[in-house]
Amino acid sequence: MARQLDSSTQEALLARVRFYRDLGLTEFYRRPVDPALLAQLSAEPEAAAVQNEPLPATGQQPVAAQESRAPSIRPLLGEWVGSQEPRPETPPPPFFQEEAAIPPRKPIFAPPQVAAAVPAADRAAALQLIRDEIGDCTRCALHQGRNKLVFGDGDPAARLLFVGEGPGADEDAQGLPFVGKAGQLLNNMINAMGLKREQVYIANVVKCRPPGNRTPEPEEGNTCSPFLFRQIDVIRPRVIVALGATAATYLLGLRQPLAGLRGRVHAWRGAQLIVTYHPAYLLRDPRQKKEAWADLQIAMKELGLKPPAKG
Ligand code: URA
Repeated sequence: MARQLDSSTQEALLARVRFYRDLGLTEFYRRPVDPALLAQLSAEPEAAAVQNEPLPATGQQPVAAQESRAPSIRPLLGEWVGSQEPRPETPPPPFFQEEAAIPPRKPIFAPPQVAAAVPAADRAAALQLIRDEIGDCTRCALHQGRNKLVFGDGDPAARLLFVGEGPGADEDAQGLPFVGKAGQLLNNMINAMGLKREQVYIANVVKCRPPGNRTPEPEEGNTCSPFLFRQIDVIRPRVIVALGATAATYLLGLRQPLAGLRGRVHAWRGAQLIVTYHPAYLLRDPRQKKEAWADLQIAMKELGLKPPAKG
């Protein structure tokens, strides 16, 4: 069966394509297209399936009308638009598969604010606006056990940002991230990189402590993580270090064992993302510290940092 996109997905897809086109990006997610299919597409009249399905109440023109002034849209959409041939039955890539996807995730339609960088001097104020919007949050059940909300801490213009899972008891008491035992180890890791804690930014996937330090539920992580993404879009770090599987899952949008994500650089919303072990895990299994140090060295290379001389 051909995969049918519903009209709201089509509209979201087109909005995304228009956004990138307006930025002058027209090529980067075109898939390799079968030459036979391409020939068939060019031979076809403009009677695309979507042409008969006007976009709802936005005043936007159907695809074919837009193509007359923006010819780049059609090749961008590749075989999704313009062909009434059934799509070949290829299995979806792993991150679309049910078992690999993170559980019900709220889609984030707004692309990163690549065109509207906040000047470094205004980043503290911009972060405060996000904090104000979070307010005395009751968006998910975690607020019920909260003592203090843990927004994040550090340099609003940091080049390096660490993301943990969620506050523990000490963090909940103080309203600051990573101030307990795991925080002490994180401080040591930061110092080993030749940095001070005040030079980096530290935040979590969820801003309120999960009861008993359990992993945040998908509903909690999905409700809270958009605020983290907005913090990151303001800070615009060069390098993000995801501490543990929860941070990696929500940042990368896919659930995979840590082993498959560590040891390399992932491109993420304009930053370089590196995945490593959570400090709490390293406290339980110190033998993995060597591996974690190897990950941090990848981050240091990206930042042009050398470890401080010993002594
Ligand atoms: N663990 C986390 O993931 N975050 C904190 O802030 C503290 C401990």
